[in-house]
Amino acid sequence: MQPLESAMPCPRCHEDAVEPLSGSSAIVAWYTCPRCDHFWSARIRNGHPIDEPETPVAVPAPRRA
Ligand SMILES: [Zn+2]
Repeated sequence: MQPLESAMPCPRCHEDAVEPLSGSSAIVAWYTCPRCDHFWSARIRNGHPIDEPETPVAVPAPRRA
């Protein structure tokens, strides 16, 4: 099994290259920031995390006067 190149910066404090936790898979990686203890997950594509929210927020259409 090839190691994932899935380290990514913390989205909260921008700590560089936080390594994924051992429970991470080839699909989803989990991270805990060593600096601010922020916990997050990222979807993995081709061995790299993709910056995509888990649950897209519906943006209301702009209202026209
Ligand atoms: Zn952080």
